[in-house]
Amino acid sequence: MNRPKLNSAELFRESCFVGGEWINADSGATLDVDNPATGEVIGRVPNFNAKDTAMAIAEADKGFHVWRDMTASERGDLLYRWYQLMEENVDDLGAIMTLEQGKPLAEAKGEVHYAGAFFKWFAEEARRAYGETIPGAKPGQHIVVTRQPVGVSAAITPWNFPAAMITRKAGAALAAGCSMVVKPAEATPFTALALAHLAQKVGIPAGVFNVITGQPQPIGEALTSSPVVRKLSFTGSTGVGRKLMAQCSQNVQKVSLELGGNAPFIVFDDADLDKAVEGAMASKFRNTGQTCVCANRFLVQSGVHDRFVEKLSEAMKKLKLGDGFEEGVNQSALINRAAVEKVQRHYEDALGKGAQRVAGSVPDGGNGNFVAPVLLTGVTPEMQLCHEETFGPLVGVIRFDKEEEAIRIANDTPYGLAAYFYSRDVHRVWRVADALESGIVGINEGAISNPTAPFGGVKASGLGREGSRHGMEEYQEIKYLCMGGE
Ligand code: NAP
Repeated sequence: MNRPKLNSAELFRESCFVGGEWINADSGATLDVDNPATGEVIGRVPNFNAKDTAMAIAEADKGFHVWRDMTASERGDLLYRWYQLMEENVDDLGAIMTLEQGKPLAEAKGEVHYAGAFFKWFAEEARRAYGETIPGAKPGQHIVVTRQPVGVSAAITPWNFPAAMITRKAGAALAAGCSMVVKPAEATPFTALALAHLAQKVGIPAGVFNVITGQPQPIGEALTSSPVVRKLSFTGSTGVGRKLMAQCSQNVQKVSLELGGNAPFIVFDDADLDKAVEGAMASKFRNTGQTCVCANRFLVQSGVHDRFVEKLSEAMKKLKLGDGFEEGVNQSALINRAAVEKVQRHYEDALGKGAQRVAGSVPDGGNGNFVAPVLLTGVTPEMQLCHEETFGPLVGVIRFDKEEEAIRIANDTPYGLAAYFYSRDVHRVWRVADALESGIVGINEGAISNPTAPFGGVKASGLGREGSRHGMEEYQEIKYLCMGGE
């Protein structure tokens, strides 16, 4: 197995972390994990079944009772130390992430900083789990509202942000006083297990943070059918999210869903075009187009259409495709063959319906999981790339004339996670910001995700918010105490 040399070899774990111990599946079954850039197997992890998962839930229940009774300040201190250890181990964590996920090393390290920032933020938020007092409804009566942890929480996370999609859940959950069982994506378990190793080093009590690996269905069913698990937070596709939401109804589990998007990126005639191109590059090409907030449909007003396309195609020439470990590479392998085939399908469908290729090469898919960035113009809303997340480096530009037309096209989707637009007209900025059906709106800004802001979608893009003080509310129950007067 070809693995980069780590400064701390013990960060690369091939067992699950449950109840403070490193364990294997009871059956001994394992799953291989490969490097998407080379196809090589890089390690194997336990293939937990429903029984193994039930044991992890029982350990998380024990952990919950210890954690809940600690002070918010003690919990905050441990989260802060966890954040510091992530920073201290950024090189190793980045290398593990590039190895299993493929993203360029600099970007992987960037994700480690971004992911750690959630622990830092929630370390501080833990201390601010304030309640409220409300004037009583009768003389002498007092109404007090407290916030309590919901209990054992489960997280099911995707492969595109192997660290951040975990820390933005676990940071909030642990700050609120919940324990957690995390099931990372099959493609990227090693980053999650490295985080568990750091949790152990920090001294987070046994059972508070558990990472289990294996096939999703039995684990998902065990997590959603357990009366002990009081909350499920899922990030992934809308199809799986719907299914899990239905499963959560059995025990009326609290549920948060961060699902797919179909982000519009609108450039109006009055935009600062250089800024718009900068934002487009940041939004579209992060993680080689594999983020839920990646611009998926570019809508450009007629007056600036040609100049925007020219500037964007110039900027795209600076993209360098290659193995994520190669110096200077900023576009790397997609996660698997299916991802490559989806980009090809969108590309061919668009060309077949009249789009034109302006820049980039045809994604032939003959070269492992690598797909070169491509820019298409003459895109129309009925093309597949306007209906589904492409999740790859394919830019499709739609030309429009009127503001209302752009808003109508932008909102014509079941999704509503992120939207972006560029304009320097203050009246238009408010009008368009109000009209877009989206949980997040980037206004003259292409990088919108950070721990201080509430991240989440509307419509089929999900339920609930992550990050910010609202992120912690997802892991709290409100308790109302009514004290009668004399
Ligand atoms: P996915 O197929 O839905 O998988 C996400 C997670 O769910 C993985 O851990 C997966 O396990 C698990 N899973 C799959 N089927 C399951 C089942 N029947 N029961 C329980 N768990 C199940 O999504 P993905 O392809 O990994 O991720 C891409 C999607 O995530 C995109 O749509 C993207 O937009 C979305 N996403 C959204 C956000 C957001 O914040 N809104 C952020 C990132 C990504 P396996 O890996 O073992 O299959």
